[in-house]
Amino acid sequence: MKKARLSGVLNLAAWTFTPGQRGKPKLVIENNSFFRTKGDTQRSYWSCSAYKSKKCKCKVVTHRNSLVVKYTHKSHTHPNEYNDLSKINLIDVDINEFYDKPVGGAAFEVKKEPSL
Ligand SMILES: [Zn+2]
Repeated sequence: MKKARLSGVLNLAAWTFTPGQRGKPKLVIENNSFFRTKGDTQRSYWSCSAYKSKKCKCKVVTHRNSLVVKYTHKSHTHPNEYNDLSKINLIDVDINEFYDKPVGGAAFEVKKEPSL
């Protein structure tokens, strides 16, 4: 038997996304947002948006066709990013698109900004 680790597993009812930088949606989990850092066609790895600004190491993994979120590092180094989830700007994103697109480049089509 594998020892159960203390990292949390979360079963969501639905995915929640909010607009991120460069047209890449961020995944909202428990009042914090995450950006995809790596993955393949079956898995995505996400890091807390405060990874750089607050040196937050909170990370989660998601799997294709599953609403289960696994924390690989559960604790945040900061208060929740959102106090009121009803106030965040939600966007409709098919999470499967993340698995089909390469990490590193633009995961999503970026609309060309008009050059000034
Ligand atoms: Zn965090």
